[in-house]
Amino acid sequence: MHRFHYAGADLHCESVDLAAIARLYGTPTYVYSAGTMADNFQRLQAAMAGLDVRICYAAKANSNLAVLRHFSNLGTGFDLVSGGEIRRVLAAGGTLAESVFAGVGKTEAEIALALEHGIHALHVESEPELARINHVAGKLGVVAPVAFRINPDVDAGTHAKITTGKSGNKFGLPLRQAVAAHEAAAKLKHIRIRGVQMHIGSQLTAAGPFVAAVEKLRPLVARLQADHGIEYFSIGGGLGIVYQDALASGTAAWWETQPADRRPLTPEAYGAALVPLLEPLGLKILLEPGRFLTGNAGVLLTRVEHLKRGADKNFLIVDAAMNDLVRPAMYESYHEFVPLHRDSSRRALVADIVGPVCESGDCFAHDRRLQEVGEGELLACLSVGAYGFAMAGRYNTRPLPAEVLVQGSAFELVNARETFEQMTAGEKIPAFLQ
Ligand SMILES: *Cc1c(COP(=O)(O)O)cnc(C)c1O
Repeated sequence: MHRFHYAGADLHCESVDLAAIARLYGTPTYVYSAGTMADNFQRLQAAMAGLDVRICYAAKANSNLAVLRHFSNLGTGFDLVSGGEIRRVLAAGGTLAESVFAGVGKTEAEIALALEHGIHALHVESEPELARINHVAGKLGVVAPVAFRINPDVDAGTHAKITTGKSGNKFGLPLRQAVAAHEAAAKLKHIRIRGVQMHIGSQLTAAGPFVAAVEKLRPLVARLQADHGIEYFSIGGGLGIVYQDALASGTAAWWETQPADRRPLTPEAYGAALVPLLEPLGLKILLEPGRFLTGNAGVLLTRVEHLKRGADKNFLIVDAAMNDLVRPAMYESYHEFVPLHRDSSRRALVADIVGPVCESGDCFAHDRRLQEVGEGELLACLSVGAYGFAMAGRYNTRPLPAEVLVQGSAFELVNARETFEQMTAGEKIPAFLQ
């Protein structure tokens, strides 16, 4: 469910006409719905009722300061993966007291930053990393709260680039090494084992793999509780969202008409499958959703540059490109495109939707059917609120796009489009070339 909908012929985000935003701030521009993010958070929280649950928003999905502030206001903690993300949470006015620091290659400086700001726990991916954390904590004269990430070796059934819980992935400690690793950790002077963690992948569309992973780890979790007095079990993120029927999935009616065996994973189904398994542990449960909270809360506005009609293919060339949204090129992901102004009297068009970057991979959609549109008309690319702007780059010296946050009838530019001067600020011509 989300708050993007047509009011009359015009696509709105909450009560704001998206064409007005495009006129004011140009394109390509990301637009986020604060109301949708809040709905997603509240729905997930409600679905886990019965547990002592803490939602730590995975900031890497969308780390705009305004988005982080919004989640901080809603009462989430954060799942963070770099010193930069830690600094973003602090800059947004949040704290680290309920946040966790994950990632396979934390530097000494990043570990120190997390400890100095009172991180709830560091999620540890290997024994050498634990030794480093112990060393940094010792230098600071503190005890570092940690939780090992355990790799349960289950298949998340998702895209190869976003599966993380198989034994062949770089993530986490193998289950069979877990007991020994905890015994060794307990002997370290500057380490306190606070919890245990897993995260099996992203964009999961069924509860089965989560259930399999939790069941596999449950005996270990119970043992760690007895032997080490752990306080929490983090079951990671990974809840998938709807990409294919993104616009339609905004309404309750769409969900009701989906056959039960084809209905995408809902937070209610996720909760119903997991709460009974987790409740008997009597532990605090951490969730680390990223995509689920922001994915369907963002669109990318783009303008049609040209409609190029070919002999056997049409190309709709738009002003957004793979540097603005890399997911189709990187993960072959599907994103729905819809016109900002709907006109049922138009003919249909079948075209590849492509950006202007000099790469054949700069293609958002193949043979996509939509209403005929021409130069200057506006489109929205849906379900890009997670891993959209956060993965944007500057390839072809294209500036990072603008970002706008909407709440009700209010909206504000929360990140101005980058300028040429900002893009080249760190560059210089060396003396020996002058
Ligand atoms: C990326 C990540 C998440 C969030 O994943 P989503 O699929 O966006 O929910 C959570 N936990 C960890 C450790 C991650 O690396």
